[in-house]
Amino acid sequence: MPGVLDARDRNTALRKLTAGPLDVLVIGGGITGAGAALDAVSRGLRVGLIEGRDLAAGTSSRSSKLIHGGLRYLEQRDFKLVREALRERDLLVTRLAPHLVKPVPFLYPLYRKVVERPYVGAGLVIYDAMEGTKRPVPYHRHLSARGGLRRAPALRPERLAGAMVYYDAQVDDARYTLTVARTAAAHGAIVLTRATATSLLRSDDDAAPTAGRPPAPPETTGSAPRGGRPPAPPEKTGGRVIGARVRDEETDRSFDIMASRVIVCTGVWTDLVASLGGVQARYEVRMSKGVHLVMPRAAIDAATGMIARTEKSVLFFIPWGERWIVGTTDTDWSGDRAEPTATGEDVDYILLAANRVLAKPLTRADVIGVYAGLRPLVAAAADTPTTKLSREHVVDVPVPGLATVAGGKFTTYRLMARDVVDAALADFPRPVAESVTAQLPLLGADGLPAVRAAAQRLAEDYDVPLTTVEHLLTRYGALVPEVLEPVGRDRSLARPLLDGYPYLRAEVAYAVTHEGALHVEDVLARRVRLLIESPDAGVPAAAEVGAIMGGLLGWSRRRRALEVRRYLEFAESAAEALQSAADLPEPADSVLVPA
Ligand SMILES: Cc1cc2nc3c(=O)[nH]c(=O)nc-3n(C[C@H](O)[C@H](O)[C@H](O)COP(=O)(O)OP(=O)(O)OC[C@H]3O[C@@H](n4cnc5c(N)ncnc54)[C@H](O)[C@@H]3O)c2cc1C
Repeated sequence: MPGVLDARDRNTALRKLTAGPLDVLVIGGGITGAGAALDAVSRGLRVGLIEGRDLAAGTSSRSSKLIHGGLRYLEQRDFKLVREALRERDLLVTRLAPHLVKPVPFLYPLYRKVVERPYVGAGLVIYDAMEGTKRPVPYHRHLSARGGLRRAPALRPERLAGAMVYYDAQVDDARYTLTVARTAAAHGAIVLTRATATSLLRSDDDAAPTAGRPPAPPETTGSAPRGGRPPAPPEKTGGRVIGARVRDEETDRSFDIMASRVIVCTGVWTDLVASLGGVQARYEVRMSKGVHLVMPRAAIDAATGMIARTEKSVLFFIPWGERWIVGTTDTDWSGDRAEPTATGEDVDYILLAANRVLAKPLTRADVIGVYAGLRPLVAAAADTPTTKLSREHVVDVPVPGLATVAGGKFTTYRLMARDVVDAALADFPRPVAESVTAQLPLLGADGLPAVRAAAQRLAEDYDVPLTTVEHLLTRYGALVPEVLEPVGRDRSLARPLLDGYPYLRAEVAYAVTHEGALHVEDVLARRVRLLIESPDAGVPAAAEVGAIMGGLLGWSRRRRALEVRRYLEFAESAAEALQSAADLPEPADSVLVPA
């Protein structure tokens, strides 16, 4: 079936990848790599995509989940980035992924009547104008202080001088990345997760390429996205890059994938992965950590998203179903690239910044979840603060056969993908079509209106509440019948995975049979988002997930227990930042008014 990543059939993908040379091998299954695989395969090329952990396990599941132009980049006069990002936003909302990318209003509170309203208002006029007149989201609006408080009673009323409302869009970043990868697979790309590139093969290597041979014995060295192990020494420096040696993380065996072009899309690992071929990246990737808090909707009384200024940047209050996501921070990071951790100070920074504008202060007790991600920023001078580094992307072809891309934003992934594929194919031996992804709706977008119209019928056919079908529509779009289909055979799959949350047990089964989930963590952290949405990180559902996955993947009782234990350890480390309680100081009134 096109676009199916069946975890039970992983060996087929492995076999195909080693069967013969590809045109393009993409390394890295975040949004950039998934986008590059889709871009290349939809130009008619033979494409493979490998990811060291799970799709979106890196930054692409840890963002603010906004598809936006970025109001603050306007202030930094990054007009090109804002214009491009706004155009991309509209393309995703209207054509490419209307089931996944939704417009969302943001309220901008004003505290200095005379100075701020004209300043912010002018910015929003430019923001709206850059988008053009054919727009899927409404224009910005001016509000009085009363109007602002009506929409967001949570705001501190004193000194509130007025407000503005503008629109951007939001997305489940991990689900979007998965959908792009599945769309690439639907067009013929071979996608393999838990497969780490440990070195890049060069044409004058002594070791001849081994495409098609059975996997070689296990390797002991290599760079892993886990971040702990050191990079493997380059095989040999010199000739063009002709493929990659890859470690199968499920079996610890290594094999070679040969490709005419290798594209590295490994986010904060990009310089490391390039160095695996003895190649010195011609830019430096700086890692900037961003932390978000997740809170219940009841903690903040507002009917709209909000954006507030902080001393260094801005703070977003983003509506997320029955929750709020509040963040973010922006600090240099030099620790483990795979699992950046939030600290108690990060949590307090966000709470303090939020409490400057909120009437009822938030406390740590309000926080359900916390997560941290790393921005892969392309560095200029070493002492430039990360808040000031551009979010534009950089494409490089450091040696023939190898192209890399770094920087950028989730919103502009399609352009990053197009640019790096263009660069990789610049000297391709035959003519290749231009990028067509602007005309290529993602899986679940085609046929969406008809499936939406059939929501009531689907609810009756599968005997599930209409709200359940509506929930599924926002996650799978036109593929909802495919998700519900096994419910006809096994009624237990229609039950909720965890009481109080909209996810069905059927979604766990679908994650295995169609979305390539190999481990309990893949399901609870990225297929459903219980890791960040439930106060106990989805731990009460882990055994149930293990049982459903185990039934499909043939896990022994011991393996199921191991999977659940591993998830508990993973969830515990994610929650550490909330452990050490601290008294938050009262917010100072002076910072209520932005400088
Ligand atoms: C806190 C925060 C908030 C953000 N908010 C927004 C936002 O609201 N909107 C927006 O547009 N952008 C946002 N961004 C930026 C955006 O999230 C990133 O630009 C984007 O997700 C980066 O995607 P990527 O694919 O380049 O990297 P990643 O998602 O990190 O993917 C790289 C992948 O490569 C894999 N990998 C590494 N080494 C190897 C190897 N040797 N072999 C195989 N695989 C390997 C990793 O496991 C990883 O999955 C935010 C970023 C952060 C940190």
